Amino acid sequence: MDRQHDIVPSIQTQGDTPVALADTAPSAPAEYSTAQSRAMHERARRSLAGGIASVARVFPGPWPYPPYLVEGHGSRVTDVDGNEYIDYNLAHGPLILGHRPPELTEAMVRILQERGSSFALSHNLEFEAAEKVVERVPSIDLLRFTNSGTEAVLAALRFARGAAGKTKIVRFEGHYHGWGDPIHWSHRPALAAAGLERAPRAIPATAGIPESYGQELIIQPWNRPEILERTIRNRKHEIAAVITEPVMGNCGGLLPQRGYLEFLRKITQDNDIFLIFDEVITGFRVGLNGAQGLFGVTPDLTTLAKAMGAGYAVGAVGGRHEIMDLVATHQITHAGTYAGNPLQTGAVSTTLDILSRPGTYERLTALGDRLRAGWHAAANALGIPLATTGIGPMAQLWFQEQAPTNYREAVVGPSYNGRHDKFRAAMQRRGVMFIPGQSSNWFVSTAHTEQDIDATIDRSADAMKELRDQLA
Ligand code: PMP
Repeated sequence: MDRQHDIVPSIQTQGDTPVALADTAPSAPAEYSTAQSRAMHERARRSLAGGIASVARVFPGPWPYPPYLVEGHGSRVTDVDGNEYIDYNLAHGPLILGHRPPELTEAMVRILQERGSSFALSHNLEFEAAEKVVERVPSIDLLRFTNSGTEAVLAALRFARGAAGKTKIVRFEGHYHGWGDPIHWSHRPALAAAGLERAPRAIPATAGIPESYGQELIIQPWNRPEILERTIRNRKHEIAAVITEPVMGNCGGLLPQRGYLEFLRKITQDNDIFLIFDEVITGFRVGLNGAQGLFGVTPDLTTLAKAMGAGYAVGAVGGRHEIMDLVATHQITHAGTYAGNPLQTGAVSTTLDILSRPGTYERLTALGDRLRAGWHAAANALGIPLATTGIGPMAQLWFQEQAPTNYREAVVGPSYNGRHDKFRAAMQRRGVMFIPGQSSNWFVSTAHTEQDIDATIDRSADAMKELRDQLA
């Protein structure tokens, strides 16, 4: 049987053209081919379910398989067909330092060579990483590490229920909190099945979840304070927690309306309900203190993952003493063979040191703003309606006049229903990679340069020009 590397071509050339080096502006491939990726996908389908390692790898559009990557460096990735992309996918957000950041890579290699990958016993990297998170995230007095965002959310739900002595969780339509049974509901429900906005039904996001989990959830529309207010007034005695993404990262980076997070804080506090911020995307992404620092609203529990580990598998759940002391005293269980392993905690420690250097988030934010401004200029020049969302280095564009304010508005708009997908495919051909789907975000890393952003804006303008009639 052939080995995988038999069909991996050299990454040094692209046809006769040398692949651009990391410090030069990349050029879009003259002819875009994905033949090698297609061949790999055929092979992958024979052993991996669907040929992919996660449902989030599905690529809609003209190439119904993802590009198979060979390597990443800085702001770029290269695929097996020799295409180089400016990468805004960034491993679905985590790679805030870009691909293979030398300082982090060296630290990780050192840990592997000098210490080991896992002990399931205590070591100093655990508390050193924990101290750095506690110092930076306002809501966290104590925490535990997990291996993913999904795990962190499952733990947060248990911690909240255990501390509150109540079971119902309020969760908002269109948010994503991982794929765990108790919470993977009403992620992207069909509106025909989802009921009225003021009383949404709980819709499982997948087959295989017992109905009973849905009975423990109260589904609400986001950014609609008057509806939540009534729900809480009527059901506060059952509700353990409200969980929210502070910026709706899984609905295209929609922002909370002015005062909305403050409203969530007050109404939960006044009614003995815990507030959980799922900062798996926003944590260490929109600022060193997360969205909670940026908006000045402190929840009771916070989940973190992605940017905190800059690409190494780690999550965390933490919060106030009142809740976390129950974990500390083992009244509420959290466990995990790999929890707090040297690799994940070493990654957190080094990543947070790097991100804490002065100017990091100012620069990331400036790059994100530059991208949004460039998109607007390009669309204006072509007479294409455009709205942009996101904050700082998470960004999204919508081919319509106005940004939606929540899930139900998003899914009925023209951008969600085809325009964004067409644009994405045109950008893939032009050597720009970002997560498929209007519901996701573009992510910018510290490895991106102004030249990367400007090249991206040029290619965006070019793609918009090609699609002008379909986007307007
Ligand atoms: N919460 C949010 C807000 C997320 O965006 C994600 C992943 N996209 C998760 C939880 C789950 O994290 P993971 O994929 O690491 O399990």
